[in-house]
Amino acid sequence: MNSSAERPVTTQKRILVTGGAGFIGSHLCEDLLAQGHEVLCVDNFYTGRRATVAHLVDNPMFELMRFDVTFPLYVEVDEIYNLACPASPIHYQLDPVQTTKTCVHGAINMLGLAKRTKSTILQASTSEIYGDPEVHPQHEDYWGNVNPIGSRSCYDEAKRCAETLFFDYFRQNSLEIRVARIFNTYGPHMHPNDGRVVSNFIVQALRNEPVTVYGDGTQTRSFCFVSDLVGGLIDLMNCPEGNGLPVNLGNPSEIEVGALAESVVALAGSSSKIVYKQLPEDDPRKRCPDVSRAESLLGWTPGVELEQGLKETIAYFDASLSRETA
Ligand code: NAD
Ligand code: UDP
Repeated sequence: MNSSAERPVTTQKRILVTGGAGFIGSHLCEDLLAQGHEVLCVDNFYTGRRATVAHLVDNPMFELMRFDVTFPLYVEVDEIYNLACPASPIHYQLDPVQTTKTCVHGAINMLGLAKRTKSTILQASTSEIYGDPEVHPQHEDYWGNVNPIGSRSCYDEAKRCAETLFFDYFRQNSLEIRVARIFNTYGPHMHPNDGRVVSNFIVQALRNEPVTVYGDGTQTRSFCFVSDLVGGLIDLMNCPEGNGLPVNLGNPSEIEVGALAESVVALAGSSSKIVYKQLPEDDPRKRCPDVSRAESLLGWTPGVELEQGLKETIAYFDASLSRETA
């Protein structure tokens, strides 16, 4: 539930959101501003766009800065949400060395900033740190099954290294850290060419083009609507007991990718055919979060059902694709 976004703010904070012009970051900036905070959004626009935050730029509490987190940043802030990193496999594999630099150098730079400013810092980690899991559903105590040398490794291993850095700053420097392990999230503000499954299927269905299922479609994912996820990130940041504990955030309702394709085609009222393409290397067979820690620690559970979230996302893409062709 996105309850934290509606709560009145008690103390106004200066909050840095790296990757703030991306899909999740743009929603996070919106919610933090709605709570009365000052937001500094930094982004190098690698996968993010000005368009996702264009409606915020006239707000005097909002500042947008083009900046690459692989360089040190000197600003004064109270809290940091570190989201900068391409999240779609297509995009993070385009320049894998830069992906690793963004995760690892970015984490070092933002942790250094947090240390100097005594800020609490939240890392947008990922279910990918569990790799192709042998334990199902995935609990935070599971260490994962990750290929260190494959085409997904630049993301998976770099995100694992970023977690290591967070926990070493926590132990070595008594830094206040939060580590959110985010599972597949979808919703408005995704880029039409993002390449991830939900946006691909919706854009293909709305254009009545073939919907591309990779492999035989029996692999599973568990999809969380973005408003639920952002509520969870803010709840975790505001939870002192979350210091130094990884916390899964995602929707435990699991679905096969083939079934998702059928659902999207039906909900979009599309005439698209489903076609099958080669499964990418190291594509995890199954993924589902155990969210019991988030439930007990934060009282957080996702509230948006997949069908409802898909309808909202389809409406968003329908409107933005119509604007593009108008
Ligand atoms: P996104 O690609 O839409 O957003 C990432 C943002 O980071 C973009 O605006 C991009 O331009 C920016 N960025 C990339 N490299 C940068 C750099 N070097 N310096 C500054 N900015 C940089 O992806 P998203 O889905 O919004 O993901 C946000 C974060 O959440 C990422 O860290 C991602 O790993 C994590 N995450 C997302 C999901 C998901 O399903 N959406 C799942 C797990 C983890
Ligand atoms: N996928 C698919 N068709 C697409 C895009 C992705 O079948 O057009 C599959 C992909 O192979 C994976 C799942 O959907 O099994 C989720 O892929 P995504 O890139 O969204 O994220 P991942 O969870 O793999 O990081």
